[in-house]
Amino acid sequence: MTGKNITILGATGTIGINTLDVISRHPKKYQVFALTANTNVEKLYQQCLATQPRYAVMVDNDAAEQLSAKLIKQGLETTVLSGVEGLETVASHDDTDYVMAAIVGAAGLLPNLAAAKAGKRVLLANKESLVMSGKLFMDTIHQHGAELLPIDSEHNAILQCMPKASNKSSIEKILLTASGGPFRTWQSEQLSSVTPEQAVAHPNWEMGKKISVDSATMMNKGLEIIEACWLFDVPEEMIQVVIHPQSVIHSMVSYNDGSVLAQLGNPDMRTPIAYSLAYPERISSGVNALDIFAVAHLDFEKPDFGHFPCLRLAYDAHRQGGNATIGLNAANEIAVEAFLQKQILFTEIPILIENVLQDIVSGTPDTLDDILIQDKVSREHSKLWLANNTKNNQRQLSS
Ligand code: NAD
Ligand code: MG
Repeated sequence: MTGKNITILGATGTIGINTLDVISRHPKKYQVFALTANTNVEKLYQQCLATQPRYAVMVDNDAAEQLSAKLIKQGLETTVLSGVEGLETVASHDDTDYVMAAIVGAAGLLPNLAAAKAGKRVLLANKESLVMSGKLFMDTIHQHGAELLPIDSEHNAILQCMPKASNKSSIEKILLTASGGPFRTWQSEQLSSVTPEQAVAHPNWEMGKKISVDSATMMNKGLEIIEACWLFDVPEEMIQVVIHPQSVIHSMVSYNDGSVLAQLGNPDMRTPIAYSLAYPERISSGVNALDIFAVAHLDFEKPDFGHFPCLRLAYDAHRQGGNATIGLNAANEIAVEAFLQKQILFTEIPILIENVLQDIVSGTPDTLDDILIQDKVSREHSKLWLANNTKNNQRQLSS
């Protein structure tokens, strides 16, 4: 086999599944080398049967044993590993060429860093790791000759709108588009009644639960502002969020000669995945060409920070430094999970985050240990807030 060996971290998730779909269309160019998942044995088992990878990793030990037994029964030679060490092993393995970083949340940080240190092409979907460790992550990429290609559709679009020949100083603004999520047109007073079921039903994109809630609060866009600053080395003032409900333009770059370059397409993650796999070439992705006549018109609005307080929190946190962006991410992860478990209201997500951010000192941690400590402290603070604000079950959340 001569194609590139691909490790997919978070293979059982939405991005993982879309990646497998694109790879399956180009068997001569790409082979699955390793697949990883957290706990879903059955799904990873089915994926292993279909792709016969050299390695499979389940973070959970019991799940790893179950998977191993099932694969042996089928006569598959896939080696099953477990734990974070297993993730790091496949992310940095000598025979891995490209690593799709598609674990959700802070759990992606260590394996992503392992891939960067090993000098891999890192296809970054897991924006949370960059929000947590922006400077350290970018330094690691550069020091080890790794290549970082964004999978987030907006950042992938921005990359596509930055021709290599044009110099960076000619960029005046990055226009980061956002659908505005399912509650864009709701009255702010109505937002406290939002249920998890309503929040995970995104109007334009099929995504995992956490990012769907992030899209509904617009924290997803907040995280993406910070992600864009690190990826493209620009200050946050250069990022203008643009509400564009049709999700057809995936982002734009505005230049000093008056040109605005945009990337358009149907909202389907296989396009950015294919672009990053084949970069700088292009390959088919299974996504149909955009029917521009069916789209007919495109709308743009300025975001309302009052309606979406998470956007302001993200801008403020990035201005404050790395400690704050770690706190922002950690508090958001805890708040989203609590909302999905119906422990807090939708409108309490930004309240919890703001409370955690209030106690964080400015500055940016230098080392991985310091990053992990700030993450832990912020999670503890978030849980304390939850304990103090949800005790006695005073609130009856809709079921
Ligand atoms: P998902 O919930 O569908 O899948 C998450 C994957 O991560 C699963 O394979 C799961 O097994 C794994 N995982 C979860 N917790 C883990 C842990 N503690 N340790 C190891 N693995 C763990 O999520 P998704 O929608 O595929 O999103 C994945 C990442 O990609 C997120 O960071 C998200 O922000 C980003 N992203 C997703 C989309 C999208 O359209 N889905 C778009 C842009 C960026
Ligand atoms: Mg995005």
